[in-house]
Amino acid sequence: MRVLVTGGAGYIGSHTLLELMAQGHEVCVLDNYTNATPEVLTRVRALSNGAVTDYVGDVRDPAKLDEVMQNFQPEAVIHFAGLKAVGESTQKPLYYYDVNVGGTLALLHAMDRAGCKRLIFSSSATVYGDPVYLPYDEAHPTTPTSVYGRTKLIAEQMLQDWAAAQPGASAVLLRYFNPVGAHSSGRIGEDPKDIPNNLMPFIAQVAVGKRAALSVFGDDYDTPDGTGKRDYIHVVDLARAHVAALNYAQTNTGARPFNIGTGDSYSVRDMVAAFERASGVTIPTQLAPRRAGDIAAMQADATRAKAELGWDAKHSLDEMTASTWAWQSANPDGYDS
Ligand code: NAD
Ligand code: UDP
Repeated sequence: MRVLVTGGAGYIGSHTLLELMAQGHEVCVLDNYTNATPEVLTRVRALSNGAVTDYVGDVRDPAKLDEVMQNFQPEAVIHFAGLKAVGESTQKPLYYYDVNVGGTLALLHAMDRAGCKRLIFSSSATVYGDPVYLPYDEAHPTTPTSVYGRTKLIAEQMLQDWAAAQPGASAVLLRYFNPVGAHSSGRIGEDPKDIPNNLMPFIAQVAVGKRAALSVFGDDYDTPDGTGKRDYIHVVDLARAHVAALNYAQTNTGARPFNIGTGDSYSVRDMVAAFERASGVTIPTQLAPRRAGDIAAMQADATRAKAELGWDAKHSLDEMTASTWAWQSANPDGYDS
């Protein structure tokens, strides 16, 4: 299929490009590089030996979207382009609504104008909010606790309404848990622009000496070791889920959410220990207060994805940490290395 990938130069998008091309799909990227660098696509092209058409532009720009749609004629769109920092979303709510909701709306209008009816959407487990029960299944109440989570939920609802009104339309809503890890080549990976908000890139930067110590945000949660537990998923498994979702969208209409996680969960201390095993480097830690808005634990029930998409996660925790280390140690300054 011809697949337009918005935000394709980002962390998850770049890994997904490689999986798409490996399965014979033709890809085109639209990215405004607010959180990426063109070097990403240079490396993706080198790794795949494949053609990646790319457009520099904003997903909120109707004229740019029309240009891409007319030139590339996509049969499906994977929509990664968006903002993802939970803390920043509280400080800049309108910016988050503009990009995450407004961007999705502009994209849907452009798809309608072009007659494109298949969309795979990057949603998030944050749409669930405080757990009423765990693991979360897709029927769990959705009461997000951050602006970021609300932008994802509103975009999901918009997609549900769009798919219901458009005969033949398909919207696959992928609710990602915690993506970590990197491509096996060590050439592409996660490259946060500022101080990492997330655990794994922070640990990786401590390991290469860019940060002195990991702050452990609370050790008095109701978990076995007191630190927060999350369902970490290897980014290559996550990328594969998009290929499965594309296949699903070819034969199914309507909108459907899917949890994309492993069903396992690991604590902060588990992650530090696993990273030390992979890297042979000791990670200094210091105890810090709980981070506002954090929950004790979250975990996916991913049985729907297995049953309906034919997808499940294959990579272990040790593969997540080893690939992160391979990427970070070879590229201590990310794509500027
Ligand atoms: P990322 O920031 O690496 O990638 C997003 C890409 O979109 C970047 O290349 C950025 O330059 C581009 N972009 C941002 N705004 C744009 C705009 N207005 N127009 C065009 N391009 C734009 O993030 P990621 O981790 O790859 O996440 C991809 C998607 O998955 C996001 O929508 C994010 O909310 C969602 N998601 C991520 C996580 C995670 O932990 N990484 C978890 C759940 C959901
Ligand atoms: N965490 C931490 N120190 C950090 C970053 C994260 O202790 O510097 C903890 C955080 O409190 C949570 C877990 O690591 O329990 C995962 O955090 P992350 O931000 O990666 O994912 P999210 O909380 O958004 O699911």
